[in-house]
Amino acid sequence: MPAVTSYEVRLASRPQGWPTPDNFSLVRVDVPPPAEGEVLVRNRFMSVDPYMRGRMNDVKSYTPPFQIGQPLEGHAVGDVVESRDAAFRAGDVVTSMRGWREHFVAPARDLRAVDARVQPLSAYLGLLGMPGLTAWVGLNLVDVKAGDRVFVSAAAGAVGSTAGQLAKLRGCFVVGSAGSAEKVKTAVEELGFDRAFNYKDGDVRGQLVAAAPDGIDIYFDNVGGDHLEAAIHAMRLNGRIIACGAISRYNDEAAAPGPRNLSMIIGKRLTMKGFIVSDWVKELPEFIKTVGGLYAARKLRMKETVVEGIDRAPLAFIDLLRGENVGKMVVKLV
Ligand code: NDP
Repeated sequence: MPAVTSYEVRLASRPQGWPTPDNFSLVRVDVPPPAEGEVLVRNRFMSVDPYMRGRMNDVKSYTPPFQIGQPLEGHAVGDVVESRDAAFRAGDVVTSMRGWREHFVAPARDLRAVDARVQPLSAYLGLLGMPGLTAWVGLNLVDVKAGDRVFVSAAAGAVGSTAGQLAKLRGCFVVGSAGSAEKVKTAVEELGFDRAFNYKDGDVRGQLVAAAPDGIDIYFDNVGGDHLEAAIHAMRLNGRIIACGAISRYNDEAAAPGPRNLSMIIGKRLTMKGFIVSDWVKELPEFIKTVGGLYAARKLRMKETVVEGIDRAPLAFIDLLRGENVGKMVVKLV
């Protein structure tokens, strides 16, 4: 088979503060046929995720920084076009970390086969993918139980919408915050949150106290900043905070001060637990069985915002940081 023409998105320059389209370049490449042990894949959907912003800085974190002039990476789901490894056949559906490109060749060990009957396949980037696993692991780490009063920030996003729904299924009272009236409506009317508020209406702390007047036992933190401070204020004795993300800080050019009321952690006997989902990949089979089963049984809803075309992937990423997405932000490539 001759080389396949494909487009990929590369990091053109490192963002200073908020990313702009100039930080990305769209490059046409020839993808060679697979060698022995390799597989040629055509991506159908690729993911844009908040953690990618951190990888655009030249700072070593739990994942290495993206390199200028190199294609970006991220989760993707696609079809096997040609396989030179016994583990895969043409037509198989696979997930990989080779997003931000239309076609790619990779060693078979870098691919994971998934059930092609699950539709839409973009579910493997959201509810049944890394964000869903994040919600599942996070709730397990703070031992969420029936009757707990749970607050979830970025409630209409990929992780938040799943965390809120899973907490409801465990018998919790769930409050969410989100950045628009439409998202608040979605959280309550479609995702089953008991209450939700628009943090852009002002005073996160006051709105949280109004929504959960008896306080909260669990805070699933996707946002950090003012939301974390408000949650510490509203926490009941022995409350637990799962530190999942701090998206309100990702484009900061200088470190911002932490919550002013951090010392309340002492008197309230609070626990705060951070985690990185990639440490929990071993949970995938159990997660797919349980959460996939709930999705198949229509007990969980999947919301997503779909942007079409590899050329629009940078904008999809910027829009994700701006909060333009409801549910998981994905880019449809085919
Ligand atoms: P989302 O789908 O939730 O999209 C991001 C959302 O963040 C936006 O839609 C926006 O919604 C909200 N947001 C942006 N800026 C602010 C702000 N200043 N204050 C409050 N909300 C803001 O993304 P994900 O579900 O993929 O990720 C959610 C969080 O989980 C992120 O912090 C991410 O880094 C973290 N994460 C952590 C993982 C881990 O292993 N610990 C793994 C995966 C994700 P709105 O309109 O409501 O503002």
